[in-house]
Amino acid sequence: MESYDALLASITGTTETKTILDPATGAVVGEAPIHCLEDLEHAITAARSAQPEWAALGHDKRRAALLNAADAVERSAEELAQLLSREQGKPLNGPNARFEVGACAAWLRAAAASSLESETVVDDGETRAILHYRPIGVVGAIGPWNWPMMITVWQIAPALRMGNAVVVKPSEYTPLSVLALAKVLNEELPEGLLTVVAGGRDVGERLAEHPAVGKIMFTGSTATGKAIIKSSSGTVKRLTLELGGNDAGIVLPDADPKAIAEGLFWGAFINTGQTCAALKRLYVHDDIYDAVCEELTAIATATPMGNGLDESSVLGPLQNKQQFDIVSSLVEAARDSGARVLVGGNPDVDQPGYFYPTTLVADIDDNNPLVAEEQFGPALPIIRYGTVDEAIAMANGLDAGLGASVWSSDLSAAREVAARIQAGTVWINKHGAVDPRVPFGGSKQSGYGLEFGTEGLKALGIPQVING
Ligand code: NAD
Repeated sequence: MESYDALLASITGTTETKTILDPATGAVVGEAPIHCLEDLEHAITAARSAQPEWAALGHDKRRAALLNAADAVERSAEELAQLLSREQGKPLNGPNARFEVGACAAWLRAAAASSLESETVVDDGETRAILHYRPIGVVGAIGPWNWPMMITVWQIAPALRMGNAVVVKPSEYTPLSVLALAKVLNEELPEGLLTVVAGGRDVGERLAEHPAVGKIMFTGSTATGKAIIKSSSGTVKRLTLELGGNDAGIVLPDADPKAIAEGLFWGAFINTGQTCAALKRLYVHDDIYDAVCEELTAIATATPMGNGLDESSVLGPLQNKQQFDIVSSLVEAARDSGARVLVGGNPDVDQPGYFYPTTLVADIDDNNPLVAEEQFGPALPIIRYGTVDEAIAMANGLDAGLGASVWSSDLSAAREVAARIQAGTVWINKHGAVDPRVPFGGSKQSGYGLEFGTEGLKALGIPQVING
């Protein structure tokens, strides 16, 4: 018997279900309900009726409820992590399932701790204008399959903190993780305030166009983000869009290859590369190109990939066949174009699960599809450059602009380069290090709106000026 069996039984229900398979083994994880448009209507009705009382509780009581919800996550942490590992594929260890569940508790606590005060904009004796943030009402949260629990918390914690009710539409690939998380959170929240509707694309579409929903928090692909902009336009809905990324990392010639290799590796391969703000294109100066390739190859070779429940694994399978096929075909096309596969490629298609080996591809052109498209998997292209201007031009050459990084022993030189990169966040000597106190959001076609901290709370309120 698995440790999460009781949790699983409590979320399956009796509606129509679909069988969820473990991406590492193909074994059955559980039955997920398939919710329909009618279930969505019920959830929105329940949210509408629960929200006014929740808003009326005030900030302190809502804060307390979020802190209790964080405690509830910690009480069920191991069950949640095991279910997440089996459904999503990510290992328990490393920056993976246990880490993700821990992040859920941390982000709930951070949302409780953040504050957003009313702001006196003008008070000069004649005019008195105060800017307040009022609850929106019902917020829709639509999420992806890569970090299903953590991203759900990123969306719902600030929404609840600001006095809203939330209806969540999880990815069809990872409904059990999100249902289980909500079940645990609901131990500490009023009935109807937070509901997960585990439906398909039609449910997401309807949520985005629904007249009773005031805002959509969306994390997923740029293509779906564009569809949501269209379907939400009829009601002029507020949107926060965290979309696809294709983050560049630039290694300056003065960087120490040995010192930065571990950071580069995990910047790229966290969650086996299935991370929005992972390092997906690495630009390395000619002077240290070979040394960086060597260091990365040594780490790639030594880092264990395997079944998530095996305590020694720190890299896992791709979550689904579609993503496995995308990564395979991008690496094959790169190899066919003459690029050099330093390590990886050649997945063993006879073994069960969607395992794609950790792959590094060197001597590759900047316009190769493995560079220009988001691979979202464990295959990192490493591009050689001659001048920093050239590297910046390549980094800025795509429509994506989520994150980026600069690697150097000279902090002020790195900051100067960072300022010239078109991305929502540019990290220095690290990549993808999100922090609940620091705003996070995309530029260009990686989306708009900020999450986390006070900026994140502002995005879950309606600004209202009282003038007089
Ligand atoms: P996806 O866009 O395919 O699906 C995301 C969600 O949208 C799912 O719940 C899906 O059912 C729903 N959906 C699909 N069509 C819809 C529609 N027309 N209307 C409303 N909802 C709809 O994304 P995915 O494949 O699950 O996730 C991977 C992508 O997400 C990658 O591009 C990745 O970079 C991006 N991502 C971005 C961030 C970020 O913070 N910027 C974080 C994680 C993932």
